[in-house]
Amino acid sequence: MTLHEQSLPYVRAISPYLPGKPISQLAREMGLAVDQIVKLASNENPLGMSPKARVAVAGALDGLARYPDDFDLKRALAGRTGLASEQIVLGNGSNDVLDLVARVFLAPGRSAVFAEHAFAVYPLATLAAGAEGIEVPARDYAHDLAAMRAAIRPDTRLVWIANPNNPTGTFASYPQLRSLLEALPANVVVVLDEAYNEYLQPAERVDTTAWLADFPNLVITRTFSKIHGLAGLRIGYALASAEVADLMNRVRQPFNCNNLALVAAAAALDDHEFVAASYALNRAGMEQIVGGLKHLGCSHIPSHGNFVTFRLADAAQVNQRLLRQGVIVRPVAGYGMPEWLRVTIGTEVENERFLRALERSL
Ligand SMILES: *Cc1c(COP(=O)(O)O)cnc(C)c1O
Repeated sequence: MTLHEQSLPYVRAISPYLPGKPISQLAREMGLAVDQIVKLASNENPLGMSPKARVAVAGALDGLARYPDDFDLKRALAGRTGLASEQIVLGNGSNDVLDLVARVFLAPGRSAVFAEHAFAVYPLATLAAGAEGIEVPARDYAHDLAAMRAAIRPDTRLVWIANPNNPTGTFASYPQLRSLLEALPANVVVVLDEAYNEYLQPAERVDTTAWLADFPNLVITRTFSKIHGLAGLRIGYALASAEVADLMNRVRQPFNCNNLALVAAAAALDDHEFVAASYALNRAGMEQIVGGLKHLGCSHIPSHGNFVTFRLADAAQVNQRLLRQGVIVRPVAGYGMPEWLRVTIGTEVENERFLRALERSL
């Protein structure tokens, strides 16, 4: 009997998460200099991190012998959202809080619903908890909320929704989301993953945190990895009813968020200038890349995030040609989209490098 055979069958069934290729790895593989490489593969902030967060990290180095204290960040998030600190759960990236929700509500014999082409962590967290994943076919690459509602079974305890979704960039309207919440049984938890919330245009954004008062089964997740530029520090959070937050805290590692991440996140939250600059750069870069893709005859899915997914007959080959030119984008074959690539919106110069390399690869 091998160790593989002795492992839990539902763990064996998991396909590992495939991260975007790191710059140093491509440099080694292709013999390129690190500074020749443009990475537009992981929806990271092309402006780097918030300068205020940088200062906060430098100032916190002396305190690293102490265990982390999450009081200040929770209070800052409570102030920002109008919620109580008891409704906030911090995570080592929002990936961590997604996993906490799964551990609280899923187990063998239970199921969770998610959309085709949805964020890869939903099936991962579902399967890691031993539950069954119910994948609901997308409609025009977007979540089909009516079909997701219809897919709920008596053993379903969780519905995963990414809004906007990664990798498709699609966005479900708030009235549709609200009707889904109203129609669902109260014992089904809805995770509303808003990792790209800050990239939405102000006119399309609604304050979903206000919905928590009406729906104790709603869990909203957000992250500092995207517009705040702190992906490498790993910090995100969930907003939930005090009851659900309390349950999540029971399965959370006591010190899951480190000191530097906590102070950086609190500072980044107040860095309105950096958030505004990142937002503006993304709008301009989205136009630049979408314009370039159209010019090259590539169709794309209109995106509400900081990335865009575009179609090519030979996506895998084009990806290889891009890599040889030092441009890293994200293949999304693992998301059931073998003819597509996802590119993160970068700086103007990075976007231009990508478009030129793509032109040479077609
Ligand atoms: C990037 C992303 C996250 C955030 O992941 P972190 O663990 O916070 O870095 C969450 N959900 C979606 C849909 C994402 O694309």
